Amino acid sequence: MKTKLFSHVVSEDDPRIAEAAKIIRGGGLVAFPTETVYGLGANALDPAAVRKIFLAKGRPADNPLIAHISSFEEIRRLVRVLPESAEALSKRFWPGPLTIILPAAPCVPPEVTAGLPTVGVRLPAHPIARALIREASVPIAAPSANSSGKPSPTSALHVFEDMCDRIDAILDGGRSGVGVESTIVSLASGKPKLLRPGGISLEQLQSVLGEVDVDKAVREKLAEGERPLAPGMKYRHYAPKAPMTLVMGDPEKSLLKIRELAGPEDGIICFDEYFFRFGNTKYIRGFGHSCHPEEQAARLFKILRSFDSLPVRHIYSQCPEEKGIGLAVVNRLKKASGFSIIQV
Ligand code: AMP
Ligand code: MG
Repeated sequence: MKTKLFSHVVSEDDPRIAEAAKIIRGGGLVAFPTETVYGLGANALDPAAVRKIFLAKGRPADNPLIAHISSFEEIRRLVRVLPESAEALSKRFWPGPLTIILPAAPCVPPEVTAGLPTVGVRLPAHPIARALIREASVPIAAPSANSSGKPSPTSALHVFEDMCDRIDAILDGGRSGVGVESTIVSLASGKPKLLRPGGISLEQLQSVLGEVDVDKAVREKLAEGERPLAPGMKYRHYAPKAPMTLVMGDPEKSLLKIRELAGPEDGIICFDEYFFRFGNTKYIRGFGHSCHPEEQAARLFKILRSFDSLPVRHIYSQCPEEKGIGLAVVNRLKKASGFSIIQV
């Protein structure tokens, strides 16, 4: 199949969005920009179309998809119960980078939920994403538009690298601003639980919900056979081709540790203000100031991908604190490194 590229789609009135929506309604796959990362969309109510997402990505069948909607009212059709806490969260953070897990309505096919009794729903903030969903008049199931296991795409070029001729179309709406995927919070049973940190911080969730549990898979490597509540969290993810080690702790100490370990053929990811203190290193990338985790989130996946076209042997990374969006940045770094971590 030849992938159609709709380039430079910057206005929600662009007539090519209607063309892309027609592809979705016809059972095809369209990659589109969201404020978190690029999504790979199909009609969420069409099981055959959803199956194509798993094929194109090489995604394991037990990893469920998020259903994207364009207005709050559309959630009623997808969920069996809508607790007040979900309404409160959506009032505060929708449209935006937050996915809410709730008991699924019978119309949601098991291809979307991976057979779970729950469904993840998100109302994205990106105007092109919302225009596409509105035009398609169906909820759009969309995981990140990368090959399974690779860093998520934050530009149409990244999608093209992974998905060229595997999907029907790509809407190029420029760079994704947040840069890491949505926060996933489960309101499906008992106490609210953070399943994946993302663009909305744990502290922001707590400000609306009070106490929020944090799933073990957010910070730790799961034991063999242990099942996380968000099945995607068990896979090696976001991984560059070269092996990677995360050096956690005080940046002055991680600087010294990385200088000690890294050879001239190794890659380094560091805070911007440390860039020149690593000396004469070839493959070094600054991912933002240590005080600016939003910047680190926005740049991280592009940097991880950039090492794939370089002959780097091993990648070492400095690590921010696990607070605010920093919790999401550290979660992605831990998973990209396959939990190869040195604490300094
Ligand atoms: P991706 O968009 O590729 O980052 O994948 C979507 C993520 O949402 C995966 O990690 C899934 O495990 C998670 N997810 C989607 N639906 C559910 C659900 N019903 N329960 C738990 N996690 C979910
Ligand atoms: Mg993904």
